[in-house]
Amino acid sequence: MLNQRIQAVKASPTLRFTALAKQLQAEGKQVINLAAGEPDFDTPDFIKAAAVQAIQSGFTKYTPTTGTPDLKAAIAARLLKERGLSYKPEQIAVTCGAKQAIYNLLMVLVEQGDEVLIPSPYWVSYPEMVRLAGATPVELRTDPKNGFQLDPAAVAKACTPRTKVLILNSPSNPTGVVLSADCLKKLAQVAREKNLWIISDEIYSQLSYGTDSPSIATVAPEVMDRTIVVDGVSKAYAMTGWRIGYLAGPKEVVDAASRLQDHSTSNPTSISQKAAVAALTGDQSPIHEMVKEFSWRRDFLVKRLKSIEKISFVEPHGAFYCFVDISASGMKSDPFAEKFLKESLVAAIPGSGFGWDSCVRLSFALGRKDLEEGLNRFDQFIRSV
Ligand code: PMP
Ligand code: GLU
Repeated sequence: MLNQRIQAVKASPTLRFTALAKQLQAEGKQVINLAAGEPDFDTPDFIKAAAVQAIQSGFTKYTPTTGTPDLKAAIAARLLKERGLSYKPEQIAVTCGAKQAIYNLLMVLVEQGDEVLIPSPYWVSYPEMVRLAGATPVELRTDPKNGFQLDPAAVAKACTPRTKVLILNSPSNPTGVVLSADCLKKLAQVAREKNLWIISDEIYSQLSYGTDSPSIATVAPEVMDRTIVVDGVSKAYAMTGWRIGYLAGPKEVVDAASRLQDHSTSNPTSISQKAAVAALTGDQSPIHEMVKEFSWRRDFLVKRLKSIEKISFVEPHGAFYCFVDISASGMKSDPFAEKFLKESLVAAIPGSGFGWDSCVRLSFALGRKDLEEGLNRFDQFIRSV
C-alpha cells in the first residue's frame, strides 16, 4: 500500500498533455501544440558552448549542494541589476529547476495542519506540493471580471491562525496576469499583519509585454525578511531541460532548504550550472529577440481570439499563456481538451488542473504559422460544439 501523502497527489496535467502532444507529433501526426509550457526556441549557442566547455574541462563532479560560487554571484548580480534586490551568496540556493525551489520551500516552511494561500487559477503543482508537505492548500478564487487580479482584502479575509504562507505568481501561469506594484504593496501589508511567509514565483519575470512585472520584494522592501523569490533560467533562456532554478531569501530559510537538498538531490547538474552562468552573464540579445517574438504572438493571439464568438478571456500581459473560458460550449475542460485533440489535432491544457473547469489554457510558445493554424482550428472547433 502506498502512503497517504502520495495517494492524495495527482499526476501533472501540464506534463501529461505536453508529452501526449510530443508523442503524437513523433508518430507523424500534424498536431498543433497549444499546450506547450516551454519556449519553442532552442537554447542560445553561447550557452550550449559553455556546457560543452564544462564537459571537456572535466567540470563533471559534485559541486556545493546549493550551487557554485560563480553561479551564485551571477544570480546575485542579476537580482540586483534587474530588481534592485541585494542578496549575499549565502541567501541564494540553486535548485534543480524552479520547481524544486518551491518544493523545498514548502517542505521547510509548513507543518501538518498549516494552511497555504494559493490564488486561483493557480499553477498545477502548487496545491500538490502543499499536500506533499502535509499542509492544506486554500484556494483564493479571483474573478475574470476583475482581470483575475488578486484582492488584498480577500487575502486578509482568508487568513486563519493556521495560515502560514502566501504563494504569488506574477506573471501568472495560466492567466498571464501581472500584479501591479500597488497591489503588491497592499499584499505585503497583509503579509505583515497576518505574519505570513511569501513565496514569490517570478519564473516568468523576464516575459512581460508592455508592462513591468515588479517583484513584491522590490516594491515593499519591508517584507524582504519574509519573502523568498523563486526564479530560474528555464523560461527566459529557453533552458527548461537543463533544470536550473533558484531561491533567494532570508538565510535561515535558505539554510534549511539547503539541508533538505543535501539529503535529496544534492547539487543541480554541474554542467548545467556552467551553462546558467553563461546565460546570466553573457549577451542578452537572444533573450530580447525572444521576448519581442512572444510579444508579437501575444498581440496576434489576442486579436484572433477577439474574433471568435462564444468564448471570453482576460488579455495576458506576461508569460506565454492565455486562459480562455469555453463554458458556452456546454463542455467541461477535460472532455473539451480531449475532443479538441482527437478531432482537431490541437493540444490545449484543460483548466481543471489549474482549479478552473470552465477554461482551457492556450500557449503561444509556438511558431507563427502553427499558432495561426491552431487558432483557426480552435475557432472551427468552437463553432462545431
Ligand atoms: N513555476 C511556474 C509558474 C511554472 O510555470 C513552472 C514551469 N515549469 C515552474 C515554476 C517550474 O519551472 P522549472 O522548469 O524551472 O522547474
Ligand atoms: N510549467 C510548465 C507548464 O505549466 C511546464 C510543465 C510543468 O512543469 O508543469 O506547462
